[in-house]
Amino acid sequence: MADEMQIDFGKIKMLVMDVDGVLTDGTVMINSDGSEGKQFSIVDGHGIKLWHRAGGMSAVISGRPSGATTVRAEQINIGHVLQGCKKKLPAFEGLLDEFGLSADEVAFVGDDLLDLPLVRRAGFGVAVANAVDEVKAAADYVTIKAGGAGAVREVIECILKGSGKWDELMERYLV
Ligand SMILES: [Mg+2]
Repeated sequence: MADEMQIDFGKIKMLVMDVDGVLTDGTVMINSDGSEGKQFSIVDGHGIKLWHRAGGMSAVISGRPSGATTVRAEQINIGHVLQGCKKKLPAFEGLLDEFGLSADEVAFVGDDLLDLPLVRRAGFGVAVANAVDEVKAAADYVTIKAGGAGAVREVIECILKGSGKWDELMERYLV
């Protein structure tokens, strides 16, 4: 799939992700004490580890503040966690400024309308399989897997294979 797109995957330095519907299936468990629970994919988590091992940076930009997101981001060493962003584009532009990146050096993965400006702006704008139609229409790529079920891993493999870094990363698993 990587060779069908006009994207220079070797340029991608940062992976920015939405949380709800992208790193999760979009559902939130509300417990009777008011606390929240979310389910994250272990396969995505390992993919993010591989991405970091390949030298990539990571960030999440979420509209909803959530303790579960904070804990999961810590577990898998997501470097930059921006939550409660009612408008996501200023947060995204802030990341570009902070790290001296241009938009074409960033991949973004989203699912809902709040993500639309970032899907358009990022060098590699991705919609997950469960994204709304408007986000899918604006995306460079629509994943086969759904959010919370391997979509982020699919995007990471696409970038790492498209930039020729995948085979070297796999060497440690082949002994
Ligand atoms: Mg979302």
